[in-house]
Amino acid sequence: MSVFNSGELRGYLVKWQDILRLRDWDIKLELVTKEWRKTGDVKIDRADKVAIVLINDCNPKQTNIEAVIIHELIHIKLWGMDQMIESLLHALYGADESDPKLEFAYTQFMELLEVTAQDLTKGYAELGAEDKSVSYGRIQKEADEEWKK
Ligand SMILES: [Zn+2]
Repeated sequence: MSVFNSGELRGYLVKWQDILRLRDWDIKLELVTKEWRKTGDVKIDRADKVAIVLINDCNPKQTNIEAVIIHELIHIKLWGMDQMIESLLHALYGADESDPKLEFAYTQFMELLEVTAQDLTKGYAELGAEDKSVSYGRIQKEADEEWKK
């Protein structure tokens, strides 16, 4: 069973692609219609300027889906810097994923990237999203489980 109206989601994508100046990108939306651990994701090819935004249409963890689309588009904006830092970390610490130095630096970087993308998303959502509410996502579920069950 689908959760979202795909026309509405496409409307958000077009709106924010324009606001975020991603006009020269070809971006398509794909709805994930089976159980998935994420609410959204994006696959990016910077050389071709194409991207696919994936949205969980089965069991989304976030309630503000326009904000999820903004978040994924911000990842496209940050992609060049994201990839540059990732290459830098590999240049510094090598490619061995089990190296604690690489793991530490990589985890710190990924957390900072997510926090930055989410902070920007909140600001944009407050300025221009239909639903300006903040998604409490997984911590709301934890709070519900703490006392409502
Ligand atoms: Zn993200």
